[in-house]
Amino acid sequence: MAAGAIEQFDLVVVGCGVAGLSAAVTALEEGARVAILERSGVEDRGGQTRWTEAAMRMKSEHEVSDDFEHHFAENSGHYLDPELISEAAGDYENWSSIVKVLNFTDPELISTLSERAGPTLQWLKSHGVRFDFQPGYFITTCTTRLSPIGGGLAIVEALAAAAEKKGAHFFYKTTARKLLQDESGAVNGLEAVGPGNRVVRFQAPAVVLASGGFEGNSEMLTHYLGTDARYLRPVARGGYYNKGEGIRMALAVGAAPAGDYGQIHAEPLDPRSGAPEPIVLVFNYGILVNRNAVRFINEAPSTVDATYESITRRILKEPEGIAWAIFDARIDDVPNWKRSVRSDQPPVSASTLSDLAGKLGLDAASLQSTVDTYNAACREGHFDPLAVDGLATAPGYLPAKSNWARPIDRAPYFAYPIICGNCFTFGGIKVNARSQVVNADGDPIPGLYAAGEMTGLYYGTYTGATSVLRGAVYGRIAGRSALGRA
Ligand SMILES: Cc1cc2nc3c(=O)[nH]c(=O)nc-3n(C[C@H](O)[C@H](O)[C@H](O)COP(=O)(O)OP(=O)(O)OC[C@H]3O[C@@H](n4cnc5c(N)ncnc54)[C@H](O)[C@@H]3O)c2cc1C
Repeated sequence: MAAGAIEQFDLVVVGCGVAGLSAAVTALEEGARVAILERSGVEDRGGQTRWTEAAMRMKSEHEVSDDFEHHFAENSGHYLDPELISEAAGDYENWSSIVKVLNFTDPELISTLSERAGPTLQWLKSHGVRFDFQPGYFITTCTTRLSPIGGGLAIVEALAAAAEKKGAHFFYKTTARKLLQDESGAVNGLEAVGPGNRVVRFQAPAVVLASGGFEGNSEMLTHYLGTDARYLRPVARGGYYNKGEGIRMALAVGAAPAGDYGQIHAEPLDPRSGAPEPIVLVFNYGILVNRNAVRFINEAPSTVDATYESITRRILKEPEGIAWAIFDARIDDVPNWKRSVRSDQPPVSASTLSDLAGKLGLDAASLQSTVDTYNAACREGHFDPLAVDGLATAPGYLPAKSNWARPIDRAPYFAYPIICGNCFTFGGIKVNARSQVVNADGDPIPGLYAAGEMTGLYYGTYTGATSVLRGAVYGRIAGRSALGRA
């Protein structure tokens, strides 16, 4: 396209992950002329979705897990005003403008997500994606997770192929940066830049923003999360492309913010590894120490899938944002423990604790003292690596370790360094259950829709295995709603 050229479409979709592709294919199936803008080249298309196993909190291909709505409700916001919450129990049409844009997990969005999850999976199946209950990296879990065979990449490839077949116009290496509006305020296109900072404009009666969060933007991360953000990094390559333009563009035309801007979904990563998602999830069988060689947290309050996020967030707050998981030869009592480590680096190992400390750059006397005190607090009891076993440290010892507490005294000793990986950011913009972006007074902004990571949904603890699902469900809803306009 020539510099400054204008292209006309029925729908412009920004982003080629699960949310953008679900929107685009839905609109294409209705015969719309669709443009898909994607910042990366074709080889990296799929954003974060490309790199995920795409676990989905489902109990079958038709129904979400039993704890789905409950977990969201428990993590719907902080110190919410009970008056406003009781208002939210009524019909959406009667909600006041302040409830429509309240900083909470909108129950309308959760019930729609739960209701549409099954049909959306069936739709993905109709495009050739197959699902199963596959073994993941959690040795102990608290819920049910279904995942596509071939992970998120299988979704990306299936939907991108469907979009190509139906005549979508893909614009790779094209970065959206500004929404265009007509005189009434309706969004009617956008401005983007291609290679060489060449400006291109797209016109359409509807735009779907699906460009992910801001995990790839250090300026926004520091702005919203503070200076600890310097120690964060995306968990895989896809995250580096998500720099928050979609969120900024929407806020610039008056979109209401939503989601916890000061929070991320955190994953424990081995900083030495460049493998995708090099998680280390064995600390519950050992101890975590910080740079001062001191324990700072209960490593095993419950199943590992339910607790790793809060533990990892705490690692970020420790000196230099790093900790070490320390364990010993007893780890081999945990069947197949290596499945919960995705680092391609071996653990640091040594035949004495003192040597281990030396290799880690920790003070040997401090590490010995920490381990001795911890060992003295460990008690006799039944160790069950596959279930929450209640084998806890003695009362009064702090921080306690609630499960899997066994002495660390059998050589060889091992350690993995762990930092806080930024799986994705929680801060985004507010949409209603039709995927319409709403302004600060709760009114839809005509012509503007959004889906996926860039919409704010999460507060407190992430309801695990729901981000790909919401991308698919709301992407599909966005495509359908946007067509009403096109
Ligand atoms: C390794 C890993 C494991 C994960 N595990 C799970 C899991 O098991 N279950 C789960 O539910 N979630 C998981 N997640 C999170 C989940 O994968 C993502 O939150 C979800 O896929 C996001 O989908 P999306 O379509 O909103 O964004 P993305 O898939 O990130 O797509 C956004 C696209 O927009 C493009 N883009 C960004 N800015 C612009 C711009 N200005 N102009 C044009 N294009 C732009 C990006 O290049 C990208 O292709 C995981 C994430 C990762 C990285």
